[in-house]
Amino acid sequence: MACLNPLKLSLRQLENTVTEFSYQLDDAFYQGLEQTEIKGGLVQAKVVIKKVADAYDVTLTQQGYIVVECQRCLDDMSWQVDVTDHLVVKFGTDLTEQTDELVVIGEQELFDIGWYLFEFAALTIPICPTHEEGECNPEMEEKLKEYAPGEKSDEIDPRWEQLKSLINN
Ligand SMILES: [Zn+2]
Repeated sequence: MACLNPLKLSLRQLENTVTEFSYQLDDAFYQGLEQTEIKGGLVQAKVVIKKVADAYDVTLTQQGYIVVECQRCLDDMSWQVDVTDHLVVKFGTDLTEQTDELVVIGEQELFDIGWYLFEFAALTIPICPTHEEGECNPEMEEKLKEYAPGEKSDEIDPRWEQLKSLINN
């Protein structure tokens, strides 16, 4: 029987020292999360969890693409994802111990692998994702040109001229 790997799991229930999970993250996965950064995608993810003393060493590898919004034309664009990230998860109650690499969860809490896969993929998105030059939605491109300052920007603002003469005096 083929069982789906759970995206939220109880670490305490892992029987082996090393457990490996594979996931295929698709549009439904991203759209099911409470987030707006990633609109969809298709990513193959591999998660390896190693039990080390009282903590869990988690390696998350992701390959594929995600769909984000182009900041120029607002159309969808694909963004390649090819990353490996690392986390240490331990049980506890002191959340101030948490860092980018250390996750503290309560005894009864499930470890939300899906959320971390999303976060690590989202971290690869540039601040201002845009299509390659010429790949933007042509209609939007036209509009952008209309509103762009164009050649006139070469003209010096008269107010700036005034200010300059003040400084030079
Ligand atoms: Zn675009």
